[in-house]
Amino acid sequence: MSDEPGSAVVEGGTTGRSGQAVPKRERERLVVIGNGMAGARFVEELVARGGRNRFEIVMFGDEPYGNYNRILLSNVLAGIQDPKDIFINPLSWYEDNGVRLHAGVRVASIDRRSKIVRGASGVAEAYDKLVIATGSRAFVPRIEGLEREGGGYKSGVFVFRTLDDCSGILEHAKRSRRAAVIGGGLLGLEAARGLLGLGLEVHVVHLMKHLMEVQLDAAGGAVLRRALEDMGLAVHLEKSTREILGDERVEGLRFEDGSELACDLVVISAGIRPNAELARDAGLTVERGIVVGDDLCSPDDPDIHALGECVQHRGRTYGLVAPLWEQAQILADRLTERRPDAAYAGSKISTKLKVMGVDLLVMGEQRAASDAEEEVAYAEPSRGIYRKLVIRDGTLAGAILLGGGAPGGRLLQAFERGLKIPEDRAALLSAGAHAGAGEPSVGDMPDEAQVCNCNGVSKGQIAAAARGGCRTLRQACAATRAGSGCGACKPQVQAVLELVLGSDAAEDPSAHYYVPGVPYAKPELVRLIKERGLRSVSSVFRELAGGQEDLASKPGLASLLKSIWGREYEDERDARFINDRVHANIQRDGTFSVIPRIYGGVTTPAQLRKIADVAERYEARMVKITGGQRIDLLGIEKERLPDVWRDLGMPSGHAYTKGFRTCKTCVGSEFCRYGVGDSTALGIAIERRFQGFEAPHKLKLAIAGCPRNCSEATTKDVGAVAIEGGRWEIYVGGGAGSRVRKGDLLCVVDTQEEVIRYAGRFMQYYREQARYMERSYDFVERVGIERVRRVIVDDAEGVAARLDAEVQASVDAYADPWSEADSPIHPSQFTTLLPPPSGAPAQAE
Ligand SMILES: Cc1cc2nc3c(=O)[nH]c(=O)nc-3n(C[C@H](O)[C@H](O)[C@H](O)COP(=O)(O)OP(=O)(O)OC[C@H]3O[C@@H](n4cnc5c(N)ncnc54)[C@H](O)[C@@H]3O)c2cc1C
Ligand code: SF4
Repeated sequence: MSDEPGSAVVEGGTTGRSGQAVPKRERERLVVIGNGMAGARFVEELVARGGRNRFEIVMFGDEPYGNYNRILLSNVLAGIQDPKDIFINPLSWYEDNGVRLHAGVRVASIDRRSKIVRGASGVAEAYDKLVIATGSRAFVPRIEGLEREGGGYKSGVFVFRTLDDCSGILEHAKRSRRAAVIGGGLLGLEAARGLLGLGLEVHVVHLMKHLMEVQLDAAGGAVLRRALEDMGLAVHLEKSTREILGDERVEGLRFEDGSELACDLVVISAGIRPNAELARDAGLTVERGIVVGDDLCSPDDPDIHALGECVQHRGRTYGLVAPLWEQAQILADRLTERRPDAAYAGSKISTKLKVMGVDLLVMGEQRAASDAEEEVAYAEPSRGIYRKLVIRDGTLAGAILLGGGAPGGRLLQAFERGLKIPEDRAALLSAGAHAGAGEPSVGDMPDEAQVCNCNGVSKGQIAAAARGGCRTLRQACAATRAGSGCGACKPQVQAVLELVLGSDAAEDPSAHYYVPGVPYAKPELVRLIKERGLRSVSSVFRELAGGQEDLASKPGLASLLKSIWGREYEDERDARFINDRVHANIQRDGTFSVIPRIYGGVTTPAQLRKIADVAERYEARMVKITGGQRIDLLGIEKERLPDVWRDLGMPSGHAYTKGFRTCKTCVGSEFCRYGVGDSTALGIAIERRFQGFEAPHKLKLAIAGCPRNCSEATTKDVGAVAIEGGRWEIYVGGGAGSRVRKGDLLCVVDTQEEVIRYAGRFMQYYREQARYMERSYDFVERVGIERVRRVIVDDAEGVAARLDAEVQASVDAYADPWSEADSPIHPSQFTTLLPPPSGAPAQAE
């Protein structure tokens, strides 16, 4: 490759820098500016059509690499993919395909009269045809204090656009504790999730009234906010950043309303702007982007074309990849004269948020444009569900699908292909529904139809991979790159496999793994962890996953290891979410909520006095009685947590974690005239025994002193109700949160001791068998109460004694996490940089 400055000659009837005339070329010279997703894909398409017979191809790329999939930078930041795995065309590809790439050379000007492109390094190339694919850059709003003296951003300030940006953020994050992401759009949220996974406390600062306002309406934005806050992100809306604080390096943000946020890393993700200056300076028409017609040609120059994010077509600019795959094919068809009159008519766009734990797919328009159009919406905010369809002339003009459960793949097909959708709109939004009356299936799709939008992979390519030996989804995805972006296309990739292979399509073993990154089902994983004495998340990756760490698997593994090892579990900074690291619940404003344990909801005047004193001393912004019968001190700053715990002198209530939370009790037989059982005494005993019991999800218990059930024990993960004769009914798998389910009657017992034994045995069985984040009500439904009863009550599988012993081991290993007040597990466990800003606290229980 000749990409050293000055190595190129200027050919084609003009003169080289040597001044000597050079002979006329046989092939035309095609110069492409921009070696990003659009430029490189266009060249690939051109080469595939035999374009090298017609053109000598020369490329300029500002970045010093081959071409990589920019979309996957979010996965790199999140630790899900290694940078080397996101390259589509490494440097060798260009050499192998006879393409001359000036890597790391920025084009400074286009001389249209002489038809010469000049690189900043002094290199010049003549062209017969020019393609501009310069993409976009991150938009950086005016913020005081952005730059340090002498120029350049302050240390710790980044944008998120290139591989170099991503490496810079990852490097800086190693020395950071609190990050702020300015911008709550798609990219900002992906960056924020990545940083959260690196173990930082992360704040999203957004100017608008709701998150992702380009793709979501206000209701959807509110549900998304809740989902993100649940995973530990702090979200600040309607906040305009005025200043970046700090001299050489960032120390915080100051907002227009005067409030401040301490942070030592800032990612600015406030939108993008097309790189169109080069074209404008060359005299081409530029509005928001480089103006092109349906022929992707500039109206000012028949030899200059443009594609990708830098163009404006029919008044629209795009910020997603799907349009550029189409544009690349059309332009390659035109220039090779395979289809000289191929025309680009605009793209229908959809996008999926690549944030682990949040399922969000959006397509087309977010609201009806006139009364003639319909909007159908369904919301269940407490479960993180929001679904909305915008329907025009019986077809889908747009959709928001947040929280999973809706038939996303089929709705996407219906949207992309303009299919009529059924009259029963409500049914369309429910799980298992089909999007079209005619059941659009991959069988109806032509081979060229695109299945994976993120990587531009067609049905034909997947079918070829299947014919070439790929039997499972994982194999097909690895062979074609399909599914490695946002993952929304995986059901369709699977469908293509089944279409081609029929019953030869194999089920992916990974469907049964406990966590995606470690190739074992839960029982086998537990056995290996115990056998090999693996006490930390990193040791599990090292021993059981070939050393390959997977961010998505860390919280699940950490929870499992804690439940197996108790105090012997070796905590690692990035394996658990912030709540579990500081043993408190992070709130919207970055402060924490502190809920001490009040066994069975029974307290004393002395205890209440102490709580009141602490609330005053540490300026709790709100003191709240929770639904779990205890007292929540809200608005506590992170660095004061150890002092608060010390002064309270009460154990942690574990209101922040996956595991045993509370045992709610009613008054019971000691005082209540209806009571037939001592519910408070039993509740207290249960809470003393199971405090700190880790589980795949939270466990809320309750005891009622008679069937009037004042403590709602039948809608708890485990509940017991006293009945006549001093006996107790035990219910399991109930819940009254995001889902309401009455628990199933497990058994009726005679004594409190038996209630405690069966409750523990059930919780141990649940935590051994359930998937990470599977609530007990889903678990009991999945396994079936009959089987649960056979194991727990009848001991049909002979495991009861072992389950009881495991419970006892956990109970014996229990240590109050708030004892870390006197011995933090690492020096910065409870430190922040500046006082956090003011703001409204959120509820914890
Ligand atoms: C973190 C991240 C996540 C994303 N996620 C998604 C997603 O999930 N789904 C989706 O559809 N889209 C996503 N996108 C957007 C997607 O990456 C872009 O739509 C796509 O990269 C646009 O391709 P392009 O070739 O037009 O621009 P780019 O890929 O930016 O390529 C332009 C190239 O031109 C170079 N260049 C610019 N000026 C010059 C010059 N004067 N001389 C030489 N070279 C120059 C640039 O350095 C760059 O390498 C994401 C983007 C980012 C940053
Ligand atoms: S459940 Fe029964 S015992 Fe308990 S408070 Fe209500 S009425 Fe009284």
